[in-house]
Amino acid sequence: MSRFLDERYSGLDPYVPGEQPQDRSYVKLNTNESPFPPSPRVIAAIGGEEAEKLNLYSDPMAATLVRAIAKRFTAVLKKKGLPGISEKQVFVGNGSDEVLAFAFGAFCGKGRGVAFPEIGYGFYPVFAQFFSLDATPVPVKEDMSVDAAAFKGLSQTVVIANPNAQTGIYLPLSDIETLLSENKDRLVIVDEAYCDFGAESAVGLVGRYDNLLVVQTMSKSRQLAGGRVGFAIGSEEVIADLNAMKFSFNPYNLNRLSILAGAAAVEDEEYFLSATAAVIEERERLKKEFGKLGFESTPSLANFLLVRRGGIGGRELYLALKQKGVLVRWLGGRLSDYVRITVGSREQNDVLIAAVREILKEKSI
Ligand code: PMP
Repeated sequence: MSRFLDERYSGLDPYVPGEQPQDRSYVKLNTNESPFPPSPRVIAAIGGEEAEKLNLYSDPMAATLVRAIAKRFTAVLKKKGLPGISEKQVFVGNGSDEVLAFAFGAFCGKGRGVAFPEIGYGFYPVFAQFFSLDATPVPVKEDMSVDAAAFKGLSQTVVIANPNAQTGIYLPLSDIETLLSENKDRLVIVDEAYCDFGAESAVGLVGRYDNLLVVQTMSKSRQLAGGRVGFAIGSEEVIADLNAMKFSFNPYNLNRLSILAGAAAVEDEEYFLSATAAVIEERERLKKEFGKLGFESTPSLANFLLVRRGGIGGRELYLALKQKGVLVRWLGGRLSDYVRITVGSREQNDVLIAAVREILKEKSI
């Protein structure tokens, strides 16, 4: 720390992203990316003339992307007989981390604060610290599922990842709706980074609750982790607030290529559906395979599994897999017994299972 650092930040405990090692090639199952390349439409969109325009600023409203998101979600909602969403109800950011950061800054400050499940996305406490917010971690249930009832009566802005980070456990929409209806002056932010792998989105509730903000990302189900595209859907007023935050910080938060990549990704519904279906199928296969090898896993509806087994610690398994060229995530703390494993392609998962089998054999367990 230099002697120039502001006192506010001297105790900052930054978020630690999953390893991105460059030393050798790994079967990389540690940061919940998609195992598939982006849609061919994405590659075509960014391979065109746009790169020649990088001398010019990007559109600060990212209108092409906002329009494509509004159109796609309107189509999905209309199919369910629900009203669509307008472009004024969509905010886009440089990954959903940025969207969440703006939301923490805008809606969780003095006199309000923020409450989130104590097991969940590790960035929430970091944002709270960064913005000097009062943060209330809310205990989860015995089975690590989010305890919706424990949020009852809290006046803080609520942030819940659904399905939850780390565990993949899904909180039924009826519980989200209870949180929304019991106090309409409390904003509920639902972080749906992992909702496209078999869970139901809360976007359908946006028309009825102006205290709901749904945040999604293109990093997991739309193959754009490196493209950095996240978005939020909410009431026009809440979206206008987020835009005010953004225009006070970084108006050109999305670059030209990411705007086009995001729009092309959200327009290719067919590719999205087949890629998510493949991940779901592999997740269920992995769950079974791990079960056969004596592991238990949380009932994850996400693109990862959280697993543990008697006879081998989480860190030990993580290190042994790393040595065999398979990278998974050991989260430590309350989850020390576990490793979190991103669902890979069929081939990657076969390598993973073979490596786990070998490790158990070597340990004679
Ligand atoms: N929310 C949750 C629950 C996550 O796990 C992640 C991925 N680390 C994010 C948000 C952020 O994703 P991104 O910034 O890539 O959109």
